[in-house]
Amino acid sequence: MVRTRRALHQHPELAYQEVETSKLVADRLESLGIEVRRNVGGTGVLGVLKGAKAGRVVALRADMDGLPVQETSDVDFRSKVEGVMHACGHDTHVAMLLGAARLLSDHKRELHGTVKFLFQPAEEHGGRGGAMPMIEDGAMKDPRVDFVFGLHIEGARRSGEFGVKEGAIAAAPDAFKVKIVGRGGHGSAPHETIDPIYVVAHVILALQGVSARMIDPVRPFVISVGAVHSGTKENIIPDVATLDGTIRTLDEVTRKLAKKRVEEVAKGVCRTFGARAEVEFEKDAYPVTVNDPRTTERAVWVLKKIPGTRVKRVEAMLGGEDFSRFLQKAPGTFYFLGTRNPEKGCVYPNHSSKFKVDEDVLKFGAASLAMLAFEFGNPTGPSQER
Ligand SMILES: [Zn+2]
Ligand SMILES: [Zn+2]
Repeated sequence: MVRTRRALHQHPELAYQEVETSKLVADRLESLGIEVRRNVGGTGVLGVLKGAKAGRVVALRADMDGLPVQETSDVDFRSKVEGVMHACGHDTHVAMLLGAARLLSDHKRELHGTVKFLFQPAEEHGGRGGAMPMIEDGAMKDPRVDFVFGLHIEGARRSGEFGVKEGAIAAAPDAFKVKIVGRGGHGSAPHETIDPIYVVAHVILALQGVSARMIDPVRPFVISVGAVHSGTKENIIPDVATLDGTIRTLDEVTRKLAKKRVEEVAKGVCRTFGARAEVEFEKDAYPVTVNDPRTTERAVWVLKKIPGTRVKRVEAMLGGEDFSRFLQKAPGTFYFLGTRNPEKGCVYPNHSSKFKVDEDVLKFGAASLAMLAFEFGNPTGPSQER
């Protein structure tokens, strides 16, 4: 697994371009005697392993894409691709799921049911992402998936610690764009213009009021503006200003309300100053990632059996995850595995250009995925009776 992970780490591929990665995955699965479907929803790979005994269908997922980050870590297997890095640890996800595939195929005779291996593209992309195209291409059907599990490596959590949570664990990340249409002119005569730069400043300030004054404070909600664009020269008032932002919510009611308020506030502020606002939310934004409580409780029972690890309840995060789309098709759980180890210099968060993984945890991740498939595949197994 360490060798595989390092090879992937040196050759990261961006969203929708995971050609070599998915080839490696598909070849490896085939060499294990696992039935493989290539090019599922683009660059996705689906592996299907049938156990010798009757049982349920359990899907395990790994995402495969890297990030547009120039690596600055001190490992000697640094990325060889300029400006691209596995800074979120998806290389470890692939290696761990291949490890789990190996374990499960070695124990095919004792295995109940069917295991589906979902190697998905483009988790970091947002919007359509990689789960949706795979689902549209039938990955969760024929046979229909009964349970689905996904694991994410976490730089901020102690090495060997699993993070679990029932219910909402990751946010719906709704990106939005506001285009403020004014009327340009000379900087010396603002009264003859509608200055979109002045207006955009008001819009940015007012939008924080949605968070501070319009959303129930006990419901998690955040709004951030990440980009503002306008203008060319100090004495020209431009025609247009745009801003890009994101809102994060953990439930659909707050999500709907927040989107409505953002639009109203942006348009209202613009109207006040005579400008016009066009507000657009990203289509197909990821839904809230909601872990099935009963499945999660049983999964915790399974995870607790893995020697050398700990299981800890975690708070939800406001990042987005398109594993949420698999969870809309089958009950399951999305959980974390810590990799923070100061002795080895593994102290940087996911997405950092210095992100460094404690590779000793890969065996825990692989074991956890394999055990979840093994236990949940068995309809009369101990995890199902609980
Ligand atoms: Zn990420
Ligand atoms: Zn990630």
